[in-house]
Amino acid sequence: MSMRIVRTIPELRALLKALREGGSRIGFVPTMGYLHEGHASLIRQSTARCDHTVVSIFVNPTQFGPAEDLAKYPRDLERDQVLCQKHGATVLFLPEPSEIYPTGFSTFVEPGELGQVLCGAFRPGHFRGVATVVTKLFNIVQPDLAFFGQKDLQQTVVIRRVVRDLNLPVDIVVAPTVREADGLALSSRNAYLSPEDRQRATALSRGLLAADAAFRAGEQSVAALLALAQKELGEVDELQYLELVDAHTLERTADPIARTVALCVAAKVGTTRLIDNVLLTPDPEAVQFLSHLDAD
Ligand code: AMP
Repeated sequence: MSMRIVRTIPELRALLKALREGGSRIGFVPTMGYLHEGHASLIRQSTARCDHTVVSIFVNPTQFGPAEDLAKYPRDLERDQVLCQKHGATVLFLPEPSEIYPTGFSTFVEPGELGQVLCGAFRPGHFRGVATVVTKLFNIVQPDLAFFGQKDLQQTVVIRRVVRDLNLPVDIVVAPTVREADGLALSSRNAYLSPEDRQRATALSRGLLAADAAFRAGEQSVAALLALAQKELGEVDELQYLELVDAHTLERTADPIARTVALCVAAKVGTTRLIDNVLLTPDPEAVQFLSHLDAD
């Protein structure tokens, strides 16, 4: 089946209405483009579970701070189109900023405390922008299922909360982080890294995986796990945070670790800001966390 490229909301609504009336289950993968294997894994999960998969590419201005990388965010629409088609997407939605934020736009979704910790402390307004655009995209696409990566764990927690609090009729699926062979989590922003910074960027995943290995081997102390991760993070230029938090509420974990926790890191390597996380689970609960459609 060939993939339809749609740029306006009315055109997308008409197309999806027809598909829905034909009984199709709609999957949705929102992205900011410059797609990689992490995005591809989300598209494949959607095509496996849904009759039609809508991928959106929209570099959302409201989730970038004034000093952030909105203007230079990497773009390669031709390559993105090929990737979407190859992995079975049937609709590619490419709205202009004015389509999503027409003149006079003034209504935002404010996620509260969940949007203020971790990345939220370093990116004021970021999760308000994310929550707003994702809510709008859900209203535009009206998917049955929407797919997000664990790589952006706080984003998944915020979105699940928005869906619950605003009674949005969509199920959220969170898929595992796809990594390079040396552990670095795939990210569109990895394109910013110089060859030397690219080497040093493995510090994030090395730190997380060292703590994960120790946890699996029986280490239960929060302080000891954080210290193990920290040891690997000496090479980064600015460690913004390294925290062990409850994977559902993002509250800081204290001993003993009784439910699934996330070890989360954000750091700058050169001028590039990178994030990563791993889930530490006392039992097979992690598998449930990832596949559970309605966590909390
Ligand atoms: P982005 O284009 O960076 O906004 O990401 C779009 C979606 O892809 C989000 O749900 C991300 O969490 C997900 N994603 C980004 N990187 C990865 C990765 N390495 N593995 C899995 N999912 C990812």
